[in-house]
Amino acid sequence: STEPNQHYDVVVIGGGQAGLAAGYFLRRTGLNFVILDDQQQPGGAWQHYWDSLRLFSPAEYSPLPGWWMPPQPGEDFPTAEHVVAYLTAYEQRYQLPVHRPVRVQTVHQAGKWLAVHSSQGVFNARAVISATGTWAAPHQPSLPGQQRYTGQQLHTVDYRSPQHFTGQRVVVVGGGNSAAQILADISTVADTTWVTRRPPRFMPDDVDGRVLFDVATQREAARRAGIPDTGGASSLGDIVMVPSVRDARDRGVLHAHPMFDSLTEHGIAYSDGTELACDAIIWCTGFRPHLTHLAPLGLGQDGDVPLTEGTRSINEPRLHLLGYGDWTGWASATLVGAGRTAKAAVNHLTDQLHDRQTVNS
Ligand code: FAD
Repeated sequence: STEPNQHYDVVVIGGGQAGLAAGYFLRRTGLNFVILDDQQQPGGAWQHYWDSLRLFSPAEYSPLPGWWMPPQPGEDFPTAEHVVAYLTAYEQRYQLPVHRPVRVQTVHQAGKWLAVHSSQGVFNARAVISATGTWAAPHQPSLPGQQRYTGQQLHTVDYRSPQHFTGQRVVVVGGGNSAAQILADISTVADTTWVTRRPPRFMPDDVDGRVLFDVATQREAARRAGIPDTGGASSLGDIVMVPSVRDARDRGVLHAHPMFDSLTEHGIAYSDGTELACDAIIWCTGFRPHLTHLAPLGLGQDGDVPLTEGTRSINEPRLHLLGYGDWTGWASATLVGAGRTAKAAVNHLTDQLHDRQTVNS
């Protein structure tokens, strides 16, 4: 790139809710920082969710730090579009220095700097916060015959609305909320078959984001007090019975079949010889943390994720990871949880940078 080298105290990678929450706390520290986001518009992954999606919780249960999400007129549970509008207004309100579109390719150690290589040149940082989410790393299991199947295959990330599937035979794969909601959607216009690896676990009808939040809060309080874990929200089930999923149940389409073993030219097959023809397969099989840009740092692995202590990388202490999942802090990949972990990370990082300044001067 022809851009000159730029120097910052902190570079935040990713301008979704986690990156914005970090920005909210960073702007109160006096540190010189920038947020780099590869999208054209604000809103992070929310701008790509499917049209019928509704939040699990009312607006007042989904706040980022400082300024709560306004209610959406006519909707108890806001749409993804409403969240995008909220995040857009949020970054304007706090005048967060988000640069778009800037794609970060890699981060390297460069002496006392971390060099963030991007589509807009190199940004040198004394510390980096990575908040790139999971949407860019869809996970799909590989099965025999996958190349042979001639029908359409999509992942959750490709799905927007049901019309395209009108009159088709569609297999939806996955036992989580995305699968249940997309099945509910498509089954209004298509002949659907739902396939899950384990029998789906439905939450009671009256459990929504408010109850999940309370359960998780109590669990966190118990953990802090050293009381044995009673099981978190997941002990209630995996699938939240939002209105569209309840409706699918009432229509009798919410029946799960066991996972198939292979794909054929025209559909799915079980090892006992049973086959089912279908026009499309939708893989609602989850996500992984999107961390390829951090590969040069040698972060080490703890199972599927880098070695961390809280939000901080153990092998590269100038790096913090925000969002992604509970491994970066309880509920850190939800709107209401993003603030707490962002605050902890920024506090920690500010102490670190001030210490180093003192030592250096
Ligand atoms: P993202 O929103 O993905 O933001 C990351 C940003 O970084 C994106 O803009 C991305 O394009 C950008 N980026 C990625 N890589 C790079 C790179 N190399 N360089 C520059 N930029 C990059 N949470 C709730 O609180 N309530 C709900 O009801 C709820 N419902 C959900 C429903 C669905 C279907 C899903 C998938 C999630 C839901 N969540 C919900 C969870 C959560 O709030 C989201 O996953 C959230 O979008 C995660 O925010 P984030 O900032 O961590 O990541």
